[in-house]
Amino acid sequence: MLTDIKSLTREELEAQFKAWGEPAYRVAQLLDWLYARRAASWEAMSNLPKTLRAKLAENFSLQVLELARKQGSPDTTQKFLWQLADGAFIESVLIPANPALYGEASDRHTLCISTQVGCAYGCRFCASGLDGWKRNLGVHEIVEQILAVERWNEIEIKAEGGKRKAEMSGVEEARLQPSAPDSRLVDNLVVMGMGEPLANYDNLIKALKILNAPWGGGIGARRMTISTSGLAPQIRKLAVEPMQFRLAISLHGATDEVRNRIMPVNKKYPLHELVGACEDYQKVKGRMITLEYILIAGINDSLEQTRPLAALAKRLYAKVNLIPYNKVEGLPWVRPADEVCERFVAALEKNDVTATLRREKGGDIDAACGQLRLKTERELKNAGG
Ligand code: SF4
Repeated sequence: MLTDIKSLTREELEAQFKAWGEPAYRVAQLLDWLYARRAASWEAMSNLPKTLRAKLAENFSLQVLELARKQGSPDTTQKFLWQLADGAFIESVLIPANPALYGEASDRHTLCISTQVGCAYGCRFCASGLDGWKRNLGVHEIVEQILAVERWNEIEIKAEGGKRKAEMSGVEEARLQPSAPDSRLVDNLVVMGMGEPLANYDNLIKALKILNAPWGGGIGARRMTISTSGLAPQIRKLAVEPMQFRLAISLHGATDEVRNRIMPVNKKYPLHELVGACEDYQKVKGRMITLEYILIAGINDSLEQTRPLAALAKRLYAKVNLIPYNKVEGLPWVRPADEVCERFVAALEKNDVTATLRREKGGDIDAACGQLRLKTERELKNAGG
């Protein structure tokens, strides 16, 4: 199988072009096609000589994500289900920071991306882990999620006025007519989609370097948040990366008893180990950590949990992001009543903890991690008999 062109850094491409005897400025042209114009085929790269395009095609793949399904409408949270070259499905979610008010378009966009097909960590409340882990995403498949969403957006804009024929034709259209160089649609990244990001550490870090580089995505590292369910050794490894990523911990329980019940990873890295790794991370990075906490009725939403949670947040100088649970078909868990969520956040604030209660966007569009993929795979299985 060929290495994909979007898994290479500028330095690696320069070395390759040098070995081929190609001038260095051709690398800049290629990068412009890949990341500014989001080209979806070699043929589109019209200012590269045909012989070079043929050489590239012979030695590298240029994979694009095929849009299999999309839910949501423009200017609200939108979920994309992508089909990869081997037929597997992954999800990305586009979240406008300022949902359109009075018909104005939102100007900032956060994209939540996946890092694995499925997940091995089996958090009890999560749809992504329900069918287990299939494989890690390659560097290019992580990078491509941003480009594919932007390609789709470009086509949406062009199609305004009813010209767009069918959602599924997005990639074909892009192949015929690559995007004009443009500023990024996506200006914030959260690595919180399907998979445990730190379990695909090397590919993730390389992808984020490409997305951060001025010749690549040009997205600031401080606008990239990596989330983990609690892989303590990898958190320590992340601390010594030169880039200033933000770190979010998917905590969902402030005691070992609660975490053990819903997150098997806690048996391997119990809270004292996780907290120790977070403290080490902060010593090196000096950056604020976010504690993600999905509120699940009867599991972790009692006021007793707010005391250890507040203590943890203070110890780590962390803010707490509370997210009422999104129902996953086939799982017994439910979202607490609004008053329960409000009481929970108020108790944390009373303890001088910065806490936000997220009114989960997209609850009606299977927005919880992994749900759209699961639904589609099950539908396909049923259709196949
Ligand atoms: S919450 Fe994250 S780590 Fe846990 S099963 Fe889901 S994708 Fe995996």
